[in-house]
Order: sequence, then C-alpha cells, then structure tokens
Amino acid sequence: MITTHNLGFSRIGKHRELKFATESYWNKAITTERLEEQGRQIRQENWQYQAKLDYASVGDFSFYDHVLDTSFLLGNLPSRTKDLNGSELDNYFRLARGRASNDDCHCIHAGEMTKWFDTNYHYIVPELTADTVFTLNTQRLFAHIEESKAQGINPKPVIIGPLTYLYLAKVNDSADKLDFLEALLSVYAELLDQLSIMNIEWLQIDEPILVTELSPQWRQAFEKAYYRLQTRNIKLLLTTYFGQLQENLQLACNLPVAGIHIDAINAKEEVNKIIDWLPSHKVLSLGIIDGRNIWKTDLNQCIDWLEPIAKKLSHRLWLAPSCSLLHVPVDLSLEATLDTDIKNWLAFAVQKIEELDIIATALNEGRGVVKEALIVNLEAINSRKQSTRVHKPSIKNDIKNITPELGIRISSYEARALKQHQQSSLPLFPTTTIGSFPQTKAIRKIRSDFKNNTVDLNHYTSAIKKEIEYAIREQEEIGIDVLVHGEAERNDMVEYFGEQLEGYIFSKYGWVQSYGSRCVKPPILFGDIDRSKAMTVYWLLYAQSLTEKPVKGMLTGPVTLLNWSFVRDDQPLKETCLQLALAIRKEVLDLEQAGIEIIQIDEAALREGLPLRRSQWQEYLNWAVESFKICANGVKDETQIHTHMCYSKFNDIIKAIINMDADVITIETSRSDSKLLDVFEDINYPNEIGPGVYDIHSPNIPDQSAMIELIERASEKIPVERLWVNPDCGLKTRQWSEVSTALKNMVSAAKILRQKQHQKSNIKVAS
Ligand code: GLN
Ligand code: ZN
Repeated sequence: MITTHNLGFSRIGKHRELKFATESYWNKAITTERLEEQGRQIRQENWQYQAKLDYASVGDFSFYDHVLDTSFLLGNLPSRTKDLNGSELDNYFRLARGRASNDDCHCIHAGEMTKWFDTNYHYIVPELTADTVFTLNTQRLFAHIEESKAQGINPKPVIIGPLTYLYLAKVNDSADKLDFLEALLSVYAELLDQLSIMNIEWLQIDEPILVTELSPQWRQAFEKAYYRLQTRNIKLLLTTYFGQLQENLQLACNLPVAGIHIDAINAKEEVNKIIDWLPSHKVLSLGIIDGRNIWKTDLNQCIDWLEPIAKKLSHRLWLAPSCSLLHVPVDLSLEATLDTDIKNWLAFAVQKIEELDIIATALNEGRGVVKEALIVNLEAINSRKQSTRVHKPSIKNDIKNITPELGIRISSYEARALKQHQQSSLPLFPTTTIGSFPQTKAIRKIRSDFKNNTVDLNHYTSAIKKEIEYAIREQEEIGIDVLVHGEAERNDMVEYFGEQLEGYIFSKYGWVQSYGSRCVKPPILFGDIDRSKAMTVYWLLYAQSLTEKPVKGMLTGPVTLLNWSFVRDDQPLKETCLQLALAIRKEVLDLEQAGIEIIQIDEAALREGLPLRRSQWQEYLNWAVESFKICANGVKDETQIHTHMCYSKFNDIIKAIINMDADVITIETSRSDSKLLDVFEDINYPNEIGPGVYDIHSPNIPDQSAMIELIERASEKIPVERLWVNPDCGLKTRQWSEVSTALKNMVSAAKILRQKQHQKSNIKVAS
C-alpha cells in the first residue's frame, strides 16, 4: 500500500480568518482566548481537509510565521525580548512586528523579514549572536499534536531542519553559522526523544536548502547532523522542495534517515536516479501535486507515470504535494462567480488534497474504483489543452516572428540622450516620482463603487480625472520636473493590467499569505496574452493636457507581470513572458504615438524571479532582459524610457540591467544607508540613474541635507549629468501631508545641488 501525506497547509483560513483575528487582537478588539480559539478552528478545518490522508501535517499552523515559531521552539530569542513581561504570545508578536498590540509600550525592533526561497512568502530571520543559547520549548507544538490526536488525526509533525534553520539565520558577529550546529543539535535530539515518547512515528524534517548550491562545509554539516540524530527512536522524513537536488542528490539519499521527500514537479527528471541511489530500506516520498501553482493535475498521466514506480517501490512509496500548500489559495469551491470554463481547470489546496487521494486510491485499489473522477479530470485537462481561449495561433505566430532587432534601440544611449535633453530641456538633477500618489479613502471608494456597479462610468471617469488633476497641480506647486498622473485608477500594478489583457482572470478568494496577516491575491494567467485596446493612454493624455511639463507614462513590465501572477504550466515561462512583452510593447508605442515623451516601465519584481541556483541565473536573465527590451525598445530616439526596481541590491545582476538599456533607472537606496556606497562601488551604470533619496516605507520626512548628501555620494561615482532625484518607490501608502513636505524638501535639495554644481563649474571656468 502506498502512503499519502501532506507537507503543510495554508493557515490563513478560507476566508482569511487568521488575518482578521490577529489584526483584531493587535487592536485589542478580541482577547487572547478568542485568538487562540480562531487558531484552533483553522487547524481543525485544515485537518478535516486532510482526513483521508494517512498522515496530516501538524506544527505547520502559525499565528505569524513558521520560521519564527521554530525560533520559539528552539528557545532562540534575541536578548531584546528577554526582559519583556507579558505572555509568550505577546513577545512573539513583538518579535514579528515590533509590538504586541497597537498601543504596546514595550515596542522592540522587529526581526528582519525576508523572502522564503523563491516564493512570495516572507519569514522572520532568526538571529544568532555570541550569547545565543538554545532551550527546547515544545509547548505549542505538543499542544497541537494532542489536539490533532483528539480529532482522530494521524499526526506527522513538521519542523524545519537544523541546517536550513541555521542557513536562514543571520549572525550578528563575524561568527560562522555552523559554529552553532553542535548546540542546536542537542536541542533537536531532545525534541526527537520527546516526540518518540509521545508515540510519534514519523517526523517531517524540512531541509529545502538541499536544492541550492552548498559549500563543502555545509554538505559535511549535513552528514554530521543527521548521523548525530539517527540514534533517536523516531523516523525522519528528510524533506526537500522547490527544485532539483543535483549535486546534493547522493548526499541526500545517503543520509541516515528513514525516508526522503522530493519535489517531483520541479525535479521529475531526478526521480529515477533517486530510486537507483536510495538504499532499499528507505521510504521515497514523491511530491506529485504542484504546491506552487493552481492548475489541476493530469491525474491519468500522473498515474501512468507512477504505476511502474509503485510496482518497484511498493510500500516504500509515499505520495504528497510537491511542497507545503501554504503557497496556494485554500478552496476553489468558494469561487461561485469565476468563469466556469477556467474554474474547471483549477485546483486550490483542498482540491489538491482530493487529487492526491484519487491518485493513491487508483494505485492501491485499481483505477476502476475512481473511474468517474478520472474521466471528469481527463475532460477538464483536454478542455484546457484544446481551448481557443488559451491557444491563439496569431499570438503564437507573433512570438515565432520575434527578432533580436525588436529589442534594440535605433541609436546608442549617448545619441538618444542628446536628442532627449534637447527636447525636454530638463535641468541638471531632474526631479520625478515613481508613479503612485497617496491612495486616499476617497480614491479607494470610487474604485470599489465602480467595480460594484454602484456608480456609472461617467461618474467614475470624472472622479478619477479630478484625482489626476489634483496630483498634477500638487506636483506643479511643489516644483517637480517630470510629473506622473498618480495611478488613482489602479488598485494594484499587476491587477490593473491583468484585468485589461486577454489571457488573465481574477479569483475572488484566491488569497495566499505574503507575511503575517498580509495576503496577496495573484492574478491567474491562463492563456495566450493579447492587448486589444490601449490600457493607459486615456488617463495619460488627460494628465498631459493639464500641464506644460512632461508627464511620464506608467506601465508594469512583462517580467513583473509574470513573477507576480499564477502562471501557465503548459508552456515555458519564457514564452509567456515574451507574450506579455509584446502586449506591453503595443501600449508603449500607443503612448508614444499619443505624444507621451517619457515612459516608465516598472520591473519591481525582476530580481524575484532569479532561480535558487546561481548556475541557472543566466538563462533566466537572458529571457527576462530580452522581454523587457522587446517591450521597451521599439521607440524612437527622442522617447525616454525609464525603468524602476524596488531594491538596490543588484551588483550581481548589473550586467543584465545595463543590457536592458533603459535611458533612466530609478532604484531604492535610502534604506540601505551605509550600504549605499556598496551599490555604487562596482556599479558602473552607463545611462542615467535615480538613486531613491526618500524612504517611502517610513512616515518620517527626510530632510534636505540627507538627500543632498546621498546624491553627492552618488556623484562621486556617476557623472552629475546622469543623475536624477526621486523617492525610493511609489507613494501610494503615504499621506498627502507627508508626501508634499517630503517632496518639497526633495525639490529644494535638487535646487541646492544645481547651485553647488553651478558654482563648481564657474570656478573651473575661472581657473
Ligand atoms: N509605479 C509603481 C508605483 O509607484 C511602482 C510600484 C513598485 O515599484 N512596487 O506605485
Ligand atoms: Zn518600487
């Protein structure tokens, strides 16, 4: 018999109950008991969804983040939490977000947050210092185990493995993370002992770093750690996901554990090799259902593939989703209004568990037992394959006809810049912003009223025009050089375009946790992408009609549209990205045609798409950059192309960024303070660059001198003729009162810089 299990489940609740409960708790609107009760309810529901499986995941529930939970489990709390009174839960929230409630007087520095591998989930980075000690704290985990047993569930606890935990941590001193391994292993050994006393048979121990490039020290540490833990009286399922094991394959197969899980979606080609390498007493768990995407599994094909494997491995074969179902929405059946054709092609977490059950049943008891389900699935799979809504020959043809020339500007940057500067006569250190202005309550209301049909198009249009006019007048008053229309019509930079492009669809409840109580609802890119009508020209022309100053067109680039969506799994990402590029290219050309002289194409998420293994970066960057170039570079010399990226860490991909050949790039720099110099150390960006001088993530108003200093430091590396002055990112989360003052400071900083420069050149002329 084949065993089925689950690696982890979404914990937000199908109606985002967790979000509302934690936020109410922080607002002191509900008690601790009520919050705990909500947690119990979500866990109970999650276990019910998994009831048919042989093992359900336990320990994957979290009020904020499972890595932070692991820090609590291991007793690894930074010293700044030690003297705080209050409950453990409050200290937990303090570490997660700085405060336990919104009026907490024991605020602390929140832990740093960063992305979990190549997903859009963010975790709280564990901290290690010279005085770090680990002490096992099993209270929550054990309570959840008992809870699951009481509900008749067969629990398989899930924990992060010691190596992955260390790898994700940061060391505050110059110590080596592996120096902490010995102490950490003692705590893990103790945990394993206690779990076996609780009669836990299997423990899932997640070591996703095995799909990344590891140094010899880390590879050795794996051996050391798992040899150390092997004597314990509990079976370990060493769990990897998100990619292939490659050079770590033999290492992983030979570690002294009872079983290993691999991601058979991303590492399907490795399965046979693993079967060969895996010692014959070990269990092999295959992750056959895509835990990162929302498409139905082709059940018949999957069973065809598994049958010989099942024969070979027999009871040693386990089946599961490829990774935790944290990364997909909870339940498709809530989507009552979703287009029925497309809904029929999808599976969210609950449906994925059902798929797993069907596959296992077919393998264990024969396909006849699940015949009906297999027929229905086949129909859905075929309908997607054959749908004319997915496949549009003319679009596929356009992709075939792409030539490199499509992505190459007519002249070099120098020649273009000359023409652009003549045309726009901008001052030295031109000032601009990144696109959005504060999204006030009124703006959000008019958009949602229009969406819900409570106001008509005329009413909506004139309301948005008023907002645009307000933004233009404010910018003129402040004295900005290159204006923006403010993005009042956009709820989100991906959704806005997705809604107007053919090939995209939007769910109503397809929420996925991004961090803590924050969830995102990624659009679903299901078919060949087309843009039949202009998406932004109307608003931009209106904005431009109000002012003599140039208004910058504002678009989201193809790579960002791709990286922030659920994408097709039936064609390579490159192909989808090129389709998006051609669609945005049409918009760029329409804007140019309409007389817009400056066009910004945001690639906020370009870096996010980088594969986990460096060896695969180049391939990604090749098509990502090609896509950007195709969308941007069809314009005439006089049209100035800007791009924007939400980070400054791109020393390692700078070649690719240069290759994009945008006339101007704006980046985030003000948050990286001391690291700013690093940014410009080896970056030799040959075109124009706007290092962000205003940290838009903070309500603080930056003062002139800090902005001047930042630009002056930048000017040591970049000629002043190529420097712009702008904030770090869009201003939509801020208040107008903050923004006006901050931007006024920014404009006067630019003026002072110009004066200083003027004086400098006068001195030069005089001498
Ligand atoms: N133009 C977008 C804005 O200003 C850019 C947002 C982003 O980079 N994340 O909102
Ligand atoms: Zn940004």
